[in-house]
Amino acid sequence: MSEQDPQPPGVPAGKESFRDSLGIVSTEGKRRWLYPRKPKGGFHRARAGVSALLLAVLFGIPFVRVDGHPFFLFQVIDRRLILFGNAFGPHDFYLVALVVITLIVFLILFTVVFGRLFCGWICPQTVFMEMVFRKIDYWIEGDHRGQRRLDGMPWNREKFLRKGAKYAVYAVVSFVIANTLLAYVIGTEALGRLVTEPPGRHLGTFGAVLGFSLLFYWIFIWFREQACILVCPYGRLQGVLLDRASVVIAYDQVRGEPRGKFHRNRPAGGGDCIDCRQCVEVCPTGIDIRNGTQLECVNCTACIDACDTVMDAVKKPRGLVRYASAEGIAGRRGFRWSGRVAGYAVVLLLLAAVLAYLLAVRTELDVTVLRTPGMFYQEQGGGRISNIYDIKILNKTFSAADVGVRLLHPSGEVQVIGGAMHVEPQGIREGKLLVLLPAESLRVMSTPLALGIYHDTVFVQEVRTTFLGPVRKR
Ligand code: SF4
Ligand code: SF4
Repeated sequence: MSEQDPQPPGVPAGKESFRDSLGIVSTEGKRRWLYPRKPKGGFHRARAGVSALLLAVLFGIPFVRVDGHPFFLFQVIDRRLILFGNAFGPHDFYLVALVVITLIVFLILFTVVFGRLFCGWICPQTVFMEMVFRKIDYWIEGDHRGQRRLDGMPWNREKFLRKGAKYAVYAVVSFVIANTLLAYVIGTEALGRLVTEPPGRHLGTFGAVLGFSLLFYWIFIWFREQACILVCPYGRLQGVLLDRASVVIAYDQVRGEPRGKFHRNRPAGGGDCIDCRQCVEVCPTGIDIRNGTQLECVNCTACIDACDTVMDAVKKPRGLVRYASAEGIAGRRGFRWSGRVAGYAVVLLLLAAVLAYLLAVRTELDVTVLRTPGMFYQEQGGGRISNIYDIKILNKTFSAADVGVRLLHPSGEVQVIGGAMHVEPQGIREGKLLVLLPAESLRVMSTPLALGIYHDTVFVQEVRTTFLGPVRKR
């Protein structure tokens, strides 16, 4: 919590001892394996729907084609990307860097306002852990009690079969995830060859798939929630990003305290929390949300659903645990623009504007024309002066380009030395140009020159350079 918030919501003054330990570490300092109760409720169903959509997009996108080319491809080794069907190469690095910076600022702004909404609803670690692998646990080993019982029993036929089935399904899913991620890097055709041809022909790639499969298997079978609690840098940043106005999953201590067990003779004046600990039992990171906002909370909404079910049962209004800010709970205030939020919003708008401009002016061909170093002008027959130029053309598109050059200004002639310039898709072509101007048109030693670049017959861009020549006395 920030300095403005010395006491988190829900924690009685001086009772912050929960911060001295982690829910995933026992008092002996060993890993405490968590057995969260199976979540159910409206938020869980909504998250399951969003997760299904995200997984369909993740697994489907490598197969999407635009004009025969992948929709997304990240050839990191060759430093080539295809984003939304458009090719970007090393020359576009500044654009990629700007996109990354814009996304980071967006995520910061989003977090300042909406807390860890991303973690609960979109983060791949949470989606896979809670919506894929945890469901496999419930399916094969049963709810939290069944899993605890299975882990506690000696190895027998039932344990061997259930654990064996779980490890096998985890391995298959990890292998599928690794192959999908590989498809984003090498494309589905190359992946198809890898799958159908003997592994010996693609030893390096095959090793990478195996390595990533093992990594995913290890993360989900053993490391699990520790990825969010101990490793994720975004999770570590919450302490500086969140403030009292950020919307997080919060326990309404104003309404809930003083908590007390539910019974008919409960004295009047008690809070709505009946201390049933259902919100704790469902938590996949092993925390008690009633202690206030904690770095371990991945905003999975399981405690909201659990508490709403309890509130329904005791005939109290839902929302004792809900999406709310500390200020909202304390003063019943809604969202307000703080200087910090406004500052991030301005930076984000500026970055987005610059990015939009750079994308709008980005051309399909990148052409540079420079006068050949060490060459002066030559006098040609017919009273003409010539200069020689080096031309370099980068074709950023997926189709070959026949590039033409015309002299736009002043009047004269341009010849491409060596014939037509054919540039392969994503290729670079270098050549020489000979520009001839009438000597009498030269008024200064260095005359501005404008060349028109044409893709087939379509004008693409204008390139400016200078033409050297003798100055005639009149
Ligand atoms: S406190 Fe609630 S929202 Fe946070 S991780 Fe635990 S169950 Fe999920
Ligand atoms: S589920 Fe609700 S009522 Fe039960 S302990 Fe948690 S906050 Fe209190």
